Amino acid sequence: MAEKYHQYLIIGSGAGGATLARELAIRGQSVLIIEQGRQEQKVGTYNDATRYYDAPNRFTNAPRKSKEGVVLWRSFMAGGSTVVSCGNGVRCLEDEFNVLGVDLSAEFAEAENEMSIAPIPEELLSDGSKKIRWAAKELGYNMELMPKFLKATSCRKCGQCVFGCVECAKWTALDYLKEAIDKGAKILYETKVEKIKIQNGRANGVISARSSGGEEEFMAEKVIVAAGALTTPVILQKSGIDKAGSGLFVDLFVNTYGVTDGVNQANEPAMALVTHEFYKSKGFILSPFINCSKRVRFVELGMRGMAMPTNRLLGIMTKTRDDSSGQVYRDGTISKPVTDADWVRLKAGSAIAREILIKAGASSKSIAVSIPQGAHPGGTAAIGKVVNTDLKTEIDGLYVCDASVLPVSPGLPPILTIVALAKRLAKNLM
Ligand SMILES: Cc1cc2nc3c(=O)[nH]c(=O)nc-3n(C[C@H](O)[C@H](O)[C@H](O)COP(=O)(O)OP(=O)(O)OC[C@H]3O[C@@H](n4cnc5c(N)ncnc54)[C@H](O)[C@@H]3O)c2cc1C
Repeated sequence: MAEKYHQYLIIGSGAGGATLARELAIRGQSVLIIEQGRQEQKVGTYNDATRYYDAPNRFTNAPRKSKEGVVLWRSFMAGGSTVVSCGNGVRCLEDEFNVLGVDLSAEFAEAENEMSIAPIPEELLSDGSKKIRWAAKELGYNMELMPKFLKATSCRKCGQCVFGCVECAKWTALDYLKEAIDKGAKILYETKVEKIKIQNGRANGVISARSSGGEEEFMAEKVIVAAGALTTPVILQKSGIDKAGSGLFVDLFVNTYGVTDGVNQANEPAMALVTHEFYKSKGFILSPFINCSKRVRFVELGMRGMAMPTNRLLGIMTKTRDDSSGQVYRDGTISKPVTDADWVRLKAGSAIAREILIKAGASSKSIAVSIPQGAHPGGTAAIGKVVNTDLKTEIDGLYVCDASVLPVSPGLPPILTIVALAKRLAKNLM
């Protein structure tokens, strides 16, 4: 049974929450983390993933979609969505933060060192990615090795990063969570926070739903919401901050697939290469990626995706800096339209992906492009709108520390940046 009073109460144990808990616990503070998900004992397969991916209907296991049909990937579990990440570790939004007066350079360097971020070793590339790299070069594009938080010697190249890593080869927020707990932080699993307790204009705890039914209250001097950009705004709205929830981006992406005579990219860490050359001018990156699971390809492409042979499949993801056009509502429903400008970026990227895949040996008739998806929700409690540059809300004692605070879509993997922000917050809170 967790004690009911702590200095800091953190909601969520993902990229933002676990980092903050570790930093505060290392500094001797008393920390309680409340986590909706479980500490999963087994990960790595599609069937495992059905337990922790967000799926409104547990009979179909179909992933959550925005009301406009954009697929939204996230997981509810200890460690949050970092557990199902592709292990990509990239600094993002440095210029935007500098303009806001938020200098993250020290925190980036600290995190890169702790997470051992380095370009993926060449020997982990599949034959398919090597072929894509060659084809891109022939066409005048430059595919570089993706920076990863990955222990290369532990990776067995199963290609199932997005279901969680059996070998614990990649860094996840669970690494920081364990350190936090070793340093004295307490955690409650399978406990869902509903709203913040506010007294005399000050946050002093949370109200959570018991898994056995009923409500429970926990008190703290300061409360930090780190439940991810699709849940944090729901908690904030229920706690009286009505302006939370607008400005949702998800780094919209599509996957372009092509079938070859034999070469495939099934056996490598997902997103092993990247080209940034269209990032500044056109707002997208390209990275070799296939969903190895036919059932996931069914979500993306229907029967056509299921019928594609994984052992002859190549694919390239177009990941974009999308418009902040979405909204998370108080009841948890989500609107995320794909704007005309979003379509321009998605189509420009997938046209180049198509060109590269055909050069790499895919038949032109086989090329198919998935429906739009998002796995990097953010912006729903943005700096300058809902929190200040110290990540504090308008309510005393109440802070936000997750992807919600990002001011605009990075169009790049955000974990490293969220970790850096959490490290900075810990220093400022002391
Ligand atoms: C398939 C996939 C691959 C990805 N790959 C990469 C990658 O390679 N590199 C990268 O940088 N990013 C990647 N991302 C994105 C990255 O994982 C997220 O951007 C990041 O984890 C967001 O951090 P967060 O702290 O905002 O939320 P999360 O890490 O999702 O943490 C939120 C936590 O809050 C908990 N929670 C939610 N609601 C409640 C509640 N009411 N009460 C209590 N707890 C609650 C959740 O269970 C979760 O533990 C990927 C995402 C996905 C889905």
